[in-house]
Amino acid sequence: MYGPGDVRVENVPDPTLKHPTDALVRVVRACVCGSDLHPYHSRPASAEGSPMGHEFIGVVEETGSAVSTVKTGDFVIAPFAFFDNTCDFCSEGLTTNCVHGGFFSTAQAEAVRVPRADGTLVKAPVGEDSALLPSLLTLSDVLITGHHAAVTAGVNARTTVTVIGDGAVGLLAVLAAKRLGAEQIVLMGRHKTRTDLGLEFGATDVVAERGEEGIAKVRELTGGHGTHTVLECVGHLPAYEQAYGVVRAGGVISRVGVPQYEEAPVGPSTLWRRNVTLTGGPGAQRGYIEELLPEVLDGRIQPGKVFDRTVGLDGVPDGYRAMDTREALKVLVQP
Ligand SMILES: [Zn+2]
Repeated sequence: MYGPGDVRVENVPDPTLKHPTDALVRVVRACVCGSDLHPYHSRPASAEGSPMGHEFIGVVEETGSAVSTVKTGDFVIAPFAFFDNTCDFCSEGLTTNCVHGGFFSTAQAEAVRVPRADGTLVKAPVGEDSALLPSLLTLSDVLITGHHAAVTAGVNARTTVTVIGDGAVGLLAVLAAKRLGAEQIVLMGRHKTRTDLGLEFGATDVVAERGEEGIAKVRELTGGHGTHTVLECVGHLPAYEQAYGVVRAGGVISRVGVPQYEEAPVGPSTLWRRNVTLTGGPGAQRGYIEELLPEVLDGRIQPGKVFDRTVGLDGVPDGYRAMDTREALKVLVQP
C-alpha cells in the first residue's frame, strides 16, 4: 500500500528464516480485512509503500532449529498476531498481549515468515483442496474477533445482545453470540444481503436505522432499556455513540473494531451513572482457535459464508476497491 486507494502487487525477495523459532509458511488462502480499509483511506502516501495483510492459512515450508510443534508439510492456521504461548500473559490466555509478540502485516503474499512458530501456529487436519478453507481462514481473524467481542462482553443464555456493524466481524459476532446461547440478538446494519446472512447466523432482529433513530428502535425492541451487551464491530465514533445509546444500565460494551479515535464520551450521562462497563480489544487468542476449530471441521458452524468474492494476488487491488465500495463483503485471496 503506497497511500490512500493505492494498492500495488509487486515482486519482493522471498521471506527467509531469521530466528531459530521462525517458520516459513506458504500462503494457501489470505484475505482483505475491514481493518485494512482504515489505512486504505488514511495512510499517508509514501514512496516505499508497506506490505499488507494479517490473515492467512497455509502449509509449513521450512522451520527453524528450535521449532518443535509444526513441521514441513503441516497445514496451519495463523492468528493475526504471533506469540510465544509461554509468557505470563499467554499463560493467562491473553496471547494478543504476549511480551514476545506482535502483529502480522505481510500476509497478502505468497509466503510469510512466522515468528514464535511453536506458540503461534495451530495445525488443522485438512488438505489444500479442502472445502473448509474459507471457514478455517475466519479463525485467523474475523471469527475469533467476533467471538472475543461476545466473550469479553459476557454473552450467555441470560444476556440480550446488540451487534453494531454488518461487516464480516459483526456477522460473526452474531454467530458467536448465538453459539454462546443468547436468545435475543439485534443486528444493526444497513445492507440487506449482509443482514440476511446475519439472520442466518442467528440474529433475531435487524435495525437498519442509525443514530438516534436506531437507538430508539433497539430500545423499542428491548422494553425500553437496551441490551445487556453491545458488541461494537466497526471502530468509528458514531458506532461507539450508538453503543452507549443502546446498552442497558449495568451492561457491557465490547469494542473490537479498531477505534479510529482517541477521545470519546465516558462521563456520567453515557457510562458512569448507568454502571456501564467498557471492554474489548484485539482478540487473536490461541485458545479461541482451539475451541472453535472442531466446530468448523465438523460443519456445526459455517463462518466461511462471509466470503463472497475470490481473487488471485493480481486481483488484490480490486479486492480493496470492492470492499471499500461495499460491492463485496469479504474478499478471499488465493495466491
Ligand atoms: Zn507470550
